[in-house]
Amino acid sequence: MLCPPEIHYLELLQKIKADINLEEFLFARTSCDEFNEECWEMHCTACDNTFFESKSKRLKDFYKCPVCGCEIIPKRWNETKQIKKQHFTYYLFQRGNSSDIWIRAYEVIRSIYGDLDFREYARYYFDYGIAKRWNFDFKGDLYQVKAIKTKYLYKGFYNMSLENYIGSIDIETIKGSCLEYSQLNKAIQVLNDPIAYLDLYIKNPLLEMLWKFNLPHLFLFKIGFSKTVNMKAKNIKDLFFGLGIQDVDNIRDINNSAEFKIYKNLRLKYNFPANDEVCQYAKSISRYDCKSIMFYREKTFKYLKKQSKNNQAYDNVAIYRDYLNELNELQIENPDYYPSDLFESHQRLSLRITAMKTAKYNTQFRIKRKLLKKYCFKYNKMFIRPISSETELIKEGEQQHHCVARYSDSHIKSDKAIFVLRNKIEPLKPFYTIEFDTKKLVLLQCYGFRNCSPTNAVKDFINHWKNYLKECI
Ligand SMILES: [Zn+2]
Repeated sequence: MLCPPEIHYLELLQKIKADINLEEFLFARTSCDEFNEECWEMHCTACDNTFFESKSKRLKDFYKCPVCGCEIIPKRWNETKQIKKQHFTYYLFQRGNSSDIWIRAYEVIRSIYGDLDFREYARYYFDYGIAKRWNFDFKGDLYQVKAIKTKYLYKGFYNMSLENYIGSIDIETIKGSCLEYSQLNKAIQVLNDPIAYLDLYIKNPLLEMLWKFNLPHLFLFKIGFSKTVNMKAKNIKDLFFGLGIQDVDNIRDINNSAEFKIYKNLRLKYNFPANDEVCQYAKSISRYDCKSIMFYREKTFKYLKKQSKNNQAYDNVAIYRDYLNELNELQIENPDYYPSDLFESHQRLSLRITAMKTAKYNTQFRIKRKLLKKYCFKYNKMFIRPISSETELIKEGEQQHHCVARYSDSHIKSDKAIFVLRNKIEPLKPFYTIEFDTKKLVLLQCYGFRNCSPTNAVKDFINHWKNYLKECI
């Protein structure tokens, strides 16, 4: 293999120190001075001095080293492991003979005395269309590895591993090279692993456009990235699988590859225009997991717009999905897909389904209620009891705007039962709905109006209830 330019140990040490802003510590422990007086024994990592200080000052009041004056973080001696956290990768960028770039990866470790120790563990080579990596084996010899690395491209998803730390990128070095337009300085703000990014970039230099269009969030789509950004694209139109410049503002608003797919289908397959309204509509279809092909009809879009008070099609996506499901469930012949009052029609069908179901399950609900009688409990200003009938379950779901009505089956047939939490002063009014494992005594779900989370008082009540059950069941 060709070799990168040599670099002297001291030159590299200087570079690392200049590039990386390391935190300095003042470690302290109680000791005795020469007059046998109790004092602080201190060690500063900035100047590597060990010295004594009077105990008249508390440790936390030190913010500068008394010897060298550097800003330090005061720590107890037994916290010297703090310094071990300063374990990172330093990337040294070196220019090759022409447009090529070498990157040497050093593992850098800091000792408690503040000095740095480093060893080169990998070497990379980039040129137009070329990305290579070598590792060092235990004897210190280089061997080439197939994949550069794509494991930790994204920030914040995994624990930081060694390679995710990075020094500064020497912009001077990459000027005029194959990486000049890589937007690497922007990439390291968002992405964990600059090398993995460069690997992607070298394979598709059009990735530069993601930074120019201000679309860094696409990288966070993880596996969805390759479904949103076409890595084989040869021009900008292919970069988003056929969507163009006019779609960029909408793509910026899209949160995941599922939304992207729906937006793309609306635009390209069904010829919807590239505007914010269509984008919001696509996001709604994705959020409510609407599978019906009806949503892709222009007629549906216009209909939902008309049905909305705000004249926004996305307003009624969820309700229309429910309406379509109800038509399906009731197996209505020649269904009216576009009723003049969507909300009213949905309510009507919903009631019909409720009535149908109620007849089916109420006996089992009564049996279950008797079985669960011993779980009833009162405390403070609240009480809890099992749901009494399927009608109540359905009503609870309707009033609370959540989906508890779907739990009929598991309530009757499994240990996962539905309970209702009520305020004593309003015993008939839904307050919180609870799914509870009656065998393991584990709270599975607890939701109030529109899926709101439990308040502290509710959490407290549930803890008392669980303690009561542990003793009595
Ligand atoms: Zn010092």
